[in-house]
Amino acid sequence: MRILVIEDERKVASFIKRGLEEERYIVELAADGQMGIDMAVANHFDAIVLDVMLPKKDGFAVLSEIRAARKSTPVIMLTARAGTNDRVTGLDLGADDYLTKPFHFEELAARLRSILRRSSTEKSTQLTIGDLTLDTVSHVAYRWEKEIELTTKEYALLEYLIRNKGRIVSRSMITQQVWKHNFDTESNIIDVYIKRLRAKIERPGSPRLLNSIRGVGYRMKEPDPNDPQQDDDMDE
Ligand code: CA
Repeated sequence: MRILVIEDERKVASFIKRGLEEERYIVELAADGQMGIDMAVANHFDAIVLDVMLPKKDGFAVLSEIRAARKSTPVIMLTARAGTNDRVTGLDLGADDYLTKPFHFEELAARLRSILRRSSTEKSTQLTIGDLTLDTVSHVAYRWEKEIELTTKEYALLEYLIRNKGRIVSRSMITQQVWKHNFDTESNIIDVYIKRLRAKIERPGSPRLLNSIRGVGYRMKEPDPNDPQQDDDMDE
């Protein structure tokens, strides 16, 4: 899940970012209103945390421009003032929730989970492949009826692979979509992560879900009951 945090106060922004990353969200920061609009309109985010007091354009202007661009990304507004006017203005402009500063991180996290759950009522919050389940709200994976501990990047990698199940994804697709930048695709960082992920989600004797396609990339595939080994395209 990708969250955009639009907040100019560095301390607050990094406090939110750190907390959300611990909850395994992918977080991007925008330091002023205009940057926030540009990022929100050009990219897909699952939710936006939006401060009201911002340089260049305030949070209300940001929200109305995002909605005018037909982006329905759920938005939580951070209001500094306790007055009800800000809340009403924000909700009228299409905010999904608001939080008055100062707030406890746990409260922000809980509100965020709640708007993400609401926004995904028609989309399922669970992705499955074979007997592996991924909860895209709590960012937890389960297999063998057990929770699997994943780091933020391992989670993001697994979600990307499962969303593309049945398709071959190349290393460069993974670097762009999961790491959000282009590093040398010859670097073995992807292979290192794949290996770690495999050690967590696979077990000898259980059907193989994540296959390496030699020289091309990786593919997650529903296990074939007639061919539990599925090692035809393995390079290990
Ligand atoms: Ca601010």
